[in-house]
Amino acid sequence: MIEIKNITKAFGKLQVLKGIDINLEKGKIYAFLGPNGSGKTTLIKTILGLNQPDNGEILIQNENIKNNWQYKSCIGYMPQIARFPENLNMMELLGMTRDIRKTASDEEKYISYFNLEGARDKKLKNLSGGTKQKVNAVLAFMFNPDILIFDEPSVGLDPVAHLKLKDLMREERDNGKTILLTTHILSEVEELADEVIFLLDGKIYFQGTVQNLVQTQNESNLERAIAQLL
Ligand code: ADP
Repeated sequence: MIEIKNITKAFGKLQVLKGIDINLEKGKIYAFLGPNGSGKTTLIKTILGLNQPDNGEILIQNENIKNNWQYKSCIGYMPQIARFPENLNMMELLGMTRDIRKTASDEEKYISYFNLEGARDKKLKNLSGGTKQKVNAVLAFMFNPDILIFDEPSVGLDPVAHLKLKDLMREERDNGKTILLTTHILSEVEELADEVIFLLDGKIYFQGTVQNLVQTQNESNLERAIAQLL
């Protein structure tokens, strides 16, 4: 689904990605782990086409994203912090997004799933941070994308919304979607991730299952295995 080939990226003298090679398959959830500054967000933004890599290429469904402006319609993205035009209400925002994307959308299903009926006519600036995150989740899911990317999805969500989001991720994975997430919440990784991709200093340090990671570090749990890597 996604082939990442020898991607490098520097900001000035700071070499942030130092040659990343990964293949991400259909129907799997991948958790990107690594200390702050290891390059996770930079890599995700590169996959989203928001960052131009210095070298290497990214193929999505065998197409080089550089030559294919359509690819974005197959990715749903839930950023860590919502940046909305705050004077719109939720329905105006969803409508505007629909006009831009021009693809079929399932927003009503997700509005009701995340209990957002009461937010329909409220200006986005008057919504709580957690409610804005739920709107963000609706935006990620509503176009039925093949790839879903979540940057720290649990931040700001109440426990019920978090549980619902995790259930939905598993359901979408079982429907054949490819899901990427960054998180510092290790229970989320244990619950969700089919594979862990551990970044350290701009390189992939480990790729495999949680069980694999724990075993290779001779540890009893994920938290201790990660502590061993650092
Ligand atoms: P992570 O998500 O793993 O915490 P990031 O990818 O956000 O790491 O950042 C990796 C490094 O790249 C950090 O040192 C950060 O300051 C730097 N960086 C990220 N984006 C930019 C940018 N646009 N300009 C300059 N430096 C950046």
